[in-house]
Amino acid sequence: MKNLSLLYAEEDSKLSQFAVKNAETEDRFYPEPPHFYRLPLHRDRDRIFHSRAFKRLEYKTQVFINSEGDNFRTRMTHTLEVAGISRTVSTALGLNSNLAEVISLAHDLGHTPFGHAGQEILSELMKDHGGFEHNKQSLRIVRSLETRYPEFPGLNLSRMTLIGLLKHGADYEKSELLIMRHDFGPSLEALVCDFSDEIAYTHHDVEDGLERKLITSEGLQSCSLWTKHYDESYELFSHLNNDLIIRRALRSMMNEVVTDLIETTERNLFKLNIVNRQDFGESWKRGERPIGYSDEMLVQVLQLKKYLFDNLYMHEEVVSKSQWGQKIIEFLYYKLNDNISYIPENYRKRAEQEGLYRAVSDYISGMTDRYAELKAKEFGFIT
Ligand code: MG
Repeated sequence: MKNLSLLYAEEDSKLSQFAVKNAETEDRFYPEPPHFYRLPLHRDRDRIFHSRAFKRLEYKTQVFINSEGDNFRTRMTHTLEVAGISRTVSTALGLNSNLAEVISLAHDLGHTPFGHAGQEILSELMKDHGGFEHNKQSLRIVRSLETRYPEFPGLNLSRMTLIGLLKHGADYEKSELLIMRHDFGPSLEALVCDFSDEIAYTHHDVEDGLERKLITSEGLQSCSLWTKHYDESYELFSHLNNDLIIRRALRSMMNEVVTDLIETTERNLFKLNIVNRQDFGESWKRGERPIGYSDEMLVQVLQLKKYLFDNLYMHEEVVSKSQWGQKIIEFLYYKLNDNISYIPENYRKRAEQEGLYRAVSDYISGMTDRYAELKAKEFGFIT
């Protein structure tokens, strides 16, 4: 029978010197006895799965509003794709793939309804009341807003997981999360997650955009990365229908990008002489960034991202849906701030401690697209 110490030994034997070791992930704000048969990160993963915020990702917009069709990405499927890519990249680099997976699973918990448009309007509305930012909100959810456990607020995730959810350098420098035994800078696992996020959305947005017919494979020909993989797939499978050729092109394109990320990072770690986490921490402080694409790949990825921005995210259909979502959020924000009795009791209690604006922001940002629409309907904003 396997117990925790055997699990640690088995898991740690696969890790490189610059990976986060499993015993380090035992550190939690509210100390808990270790589980006899589960890694601390497996407990984190399961706590995220059981959270309300995770379940709601299914009905939150990625790019296309959830009601537009059943075959488009939602925040949930996006999150699962990010977790899959993170596992691949971190395993290949000898990093702690359980940690990369957990950070990925939690990385979008703080997203508002209606995608980035929702975050933009809420952060504008909250600008004089402490602001709103979805990465910070993810942390707020797992540290405080989820109420499932009588012993502690939030999910009491491992401190290494929480640090992984801090996205920006400035936040990283000043975070109270860093009251730690060692400060090695952000983990490589967290950085893998950032890249996996970008790889996931770049590829799935191409697929969804093509499926929704807002972009075309002809239009994408201005992107050299796409052209290379599409032409190759066409040559090999020209007798098959275009949908299959597109999917094959997307698959081989993602494979090339992920492979480039793994191999370039490996080369950079070697070149910078990083052999353990301390080396990485010092290298980070010097401003070196070993994780990334080769120069040639970076150019191609940026070209594709620019194409998506100009032609998909700025497409009038996407923009008008986003604006509609923003109107709903704006309406709810003023309506709920007008009268505290409009928000549920648990948020009213929070309003007493943290003010009504923050409580309303927490309530609205936690809504799914369809729930926000339902509330707007209840208040007569939508007929
Ligand atoms: Mg994401």
